[in-house]
Amino acid sequence: MKTVVLFDIDGTLLLSNSAGRVAMENALTSTFGAAGPSSYRYDGKTDKLIVRETMRLEGFSDAEIDARMDEVITKYLAGLREELASGRRNAYALPGIHPLVDAVEAADDLVLGLLTGNVVEGAGVKLRAVSLAPERFVLGAYGSDHEERPQLPPIAQQRAIAHLGHHVPGERLVIIGDTPADVHCGRGVGARAIGVATGGYSVADLEAHDPFATFSDLTDTARVLEVIRDA
Ligand SMILES: [Mg+2]
Repeated sequence: MKTVVLFDIDGTLLLSNSAGRVAMENALTSTFGAAGPSSYRYDGKTDKLIVRETMRLEGFSDAEIDARMDEVITKYLAGLREELASGRRNAYALPGIHPLVDAVEAADDLVLGLLTGNVVEGAGVKLRAVSLAPERFVLGAYGSDHEERPQLPPIAQQRAIAHLGHHVPGERLVIIGDTPADVHCGRGVGARAIGVATGGYSVADLEAHDPFATFSDLTDTARVLEVIRDA
């Protein structure tokens, strides 16, 4: 039975030097005339939930937000490409990520996947910016699949079943992410969570949410693989 390893993107595989936030704030301002509160945290949220929650705080109704959702996401993607391509913002892969992704991809007993709040096109833009070809991730669940992160693990599970051609129990999904939302989101399907403190939360912050394991970073490839296989 293979284990499906589902990586979060921002704060886990890479940091985009705020390219994502800048692109989203510009898209929101262009579409709604307001960027949302600077204190609002993006991490752990899906792209569309960021739009909804920030614009609710700016006084827009859900009907008004839904009517402009496609427009704001289209503008966000154009802005993200420009921020990262222009060299104004340099995204970089976090320490240990390239060797870890190589090792998971090469392992016969593991499947390399994604579970991210990014819409699928934005995931591709960010991954390519750090020389990770998105095609290497053989399956994924994205913010374009559902606005609520806890809805993403069942989608990843269905895609894993379709990819492998047999049932994949939830406990064979291992979700690796940098926020409490990553740690919690797979509980409904029985997935295991591994926290990593390379985003905005410390090891202690993440441990408080009872993940299977927590790392300060993912540089010890052999140890991370061991924990994935133990999960
Ligand atoms: Mg993240």
